[in-house]
Amino acid sequence: MKFGGTSVGSAQRMKNVAELIKQQSQGERVIVVLSAMAGTTNTLLQIADYLKVGNKSAATELVNSLEKQYIAVCQELGIDYVLKAFFSNMRSICMQPYTTQTEKEIVAYGEMMSTTMLSCYMQVPMVAALDYMRIDENAEPDMAEIAKRLQEALAKYNEEKILITQGFICRNSQGMVDNLKRGGSDYSASIIGGLLEADEIQIWTDIDGMHNNDPRYVDETRPVPQLSFAEAAELAYFGAKILHPTCILPAKMHNVPVRLLNTMDPSAPGTLINNDYKKGRIEAIAAKDGIAVVRVHSDRMLMAYGFLSRIFAIFEKYKTSIDLITTSEVAVSMSIDNLEHIGDILSELKALGTVSLDTNLSIISVVGDLQCNNLGFEAKVIEALKTIPVRMISYGGSDHNISILVQADDKVRALQTLHKAIFV
Ligand code: ADP
Ligand code: ASP
Ligand code: MG
Repeated sequence: MKFGGTSVGSAQRMKNVAELIKQQSQGERVIVVLSAMAGTTNTLLQIADYLKVGNKSAATELVNSLEKQYIAVCQELGIDYVLKAFFSNMRSICMQPYTTQTEKEIVAYGEMMSTTMLSCYMQVPMVAALDYMRIDENAEPDMAEIAKRLQEALAKYNEEKILITQGFICRNSQGMVDNLKRGGSDYSASIIGGLLEADEIQIWTDIDGMHNNDPRYVDETRPVPQLSFAEAAELAYFGAKILHPTCILPAKMHNVPVRLLNTMDPSAPGTLINNDYKKGRIEAIAAKDGIAVVRVHSDRMLMAYGFLSRIFAIFEKYKTSIDLITTSEVAVSMSIDNLEHIGDILSELKALGTVSLDTNLSIISVVGDLQCNNLGFEAKVIEALKTIPVRMISYGGSDHNISILVQADDKVRALQTLHKAIFV
């Protein structure tokens, strides 16, 4: 059972979560994965930002005001103030010279504090994620290492029904504190649930499941009762914030169903993600921001083999993954969401052809049964977008996705018109 930031966002919410865990776990063994309290990760990152620019006093002030909040939460929970050491550590980090490690050390306190408090309040043991969660040199979870260490860590608690652990945080291949990127607690839960071959991975959040469109931008969205692993993975990767982009993978690998549930309305059915695949239906729409498109145009591409592989080798060299691709006989367009090495990539691509870069785009993904023999499904999508400039369309890569690239400014309008055309 994984609980997100809002689900543990106040003392009252923590009490509710404790009750929920007890009710749900009757007779079953449960591993509880917690995020930091809502807002805390952002505050910790702000502290690191102050330290980065050398403003120690602003950083320390933020640590002090955060501590006041946490003292109040502990009081309301009726537990001792168990976070003293965490805050004094944070203050001493504030006094040390800033390194690239500082931010990772600081941001890890969010999950350590929420779990320490709930473990104290519920009087159940806590298993330290830093003892077992590992990423490799490529910042990917090191599954073999995690499996081994997790077994070791859990062996001490064979008799316990409920255990609490931290989401998000881990150690890297050098053994230093690191994390699974923003929203990574979902990933922790899926890695743990997958490796232990749990009956189910439950992601408890502030909404009643995966909705058929982004509820932050579109009215009258509704929860999708069931999705296949592939559909859920596409939605998460292409922007449905309710799930961390890669968190479906470990669950799928071990065939463990994932259930998205609402802490504020525990009896709502939510969304079940498993191997079943509903035919003949478009399930949901999602959008991902911060997309750029690189286009390479070259007459040398005409009837030539090996051209694409030379282009892809450049992206590979700079560890930049390509999301969408469209080609014509003399040009190829590729979307990316990581501009860290774009300068180097563009200059190397220039040896292959004329290169252009478009930024500030969004990918809209329509996900469901989009096999080509479902006549009219693509037409419906294209028709809905007739008043919106479309930069790129990717269809046919899989049977369950059509992705459209639009200007970021047109994203909300695109989500809304698609919603009307497909679901209303
Ligand atoms: P948590 O803190 O529990 O991890 P998140 O904020 O990461 O929760 O994810 C839940 C939020 O995701 C919802 O409140 C909602 O605003 C947003 N969201 C975006 N797209 C969707 C979608 N398709 N279905 C449900 N929620 C979505
Ligand atoms: N606390 C982390 C974040 O805010 C991880 C998570 O909540 O999933 O990104
Ligand atoms: Mg989240």
